Amino acid sequence: MRIPHEPNAIMRLREPTPDDPWRVLLSGCMAGLQCGVDGTDYGFGGVMDVFFATPLATAYPFCPEDAGLGTPRGWPDIHGGDGIDVLDGNARVLDQDGNDQTQGMITGAEAMTLFAKRQQIDLAILMDMSAACATQVISDGSRFTVEDRAYRMGVGVAAASLLRAGIPVVSQRDFRSLDALRARVDPTHTLNPEALDHHETLWYLEYFGTD
Ligand code: SF4
Repeated sequence: MRIPHEPNAIMRLREPTPDDPWRVLLSGCMAGLQCGVDGTDYGFGGVMDVFFATPLATAYPFCPEDAGLGTPRGWPDIHGGDGIDVLDGNARVLDQDGNDQTQGMITGAEAMTLFAKRQQIDLAILMDMSAACATQVISDGSRFTVEDRAYRMGVGVAAASLLRAGIPVVSQRDFRSLDALRARVDPTHTLNPEALDHHETLWYLEYFGTD
């Protein structure tokens, strides 16, 4: 199984304080930036607000696709691999009309990583299933040109770049990891023993046929 994020690594994060809170890179759309392909936040704005309702964590929103391709834009998907393969020149990013967006996606990924380094980011919380931000699952080719959308385990281009820079990543669907992280920044939070990360869910296990 390919698990891009490492739960133990993210739990080794330094102790945050009110004077030096965790500096968390956040997918821009989840912070309400109107940076989606259609110029919206896809309705995800504010989904992480509870996590940041503490002086111990500060959000740093960024959208790599907006940085590399602009908004609005075609809908990018990775063909022939995942974000790591794109960075290595072994896979391409095409939009729904077949336009090659590979270089723009790499430019946006590099911009996000530079932003993360300059802001001394501790951790990134990213939107899964995005060709840029995904940390667990991506579309396997275009989500529009196949009868049934196909998926593959893997990371988006920006997530791959962040991982190569040594920045821990986690997706908004990794509920067990996020629950544990929240407990570290909110002393009143009670851990949910039933919370699962995305790679532990029934959908993931059934779709990818792994355990
Ligand atoms: S590239 Fe990332 S931040 Fe930008 S719209 Fe897509 S998921 Fe959100």
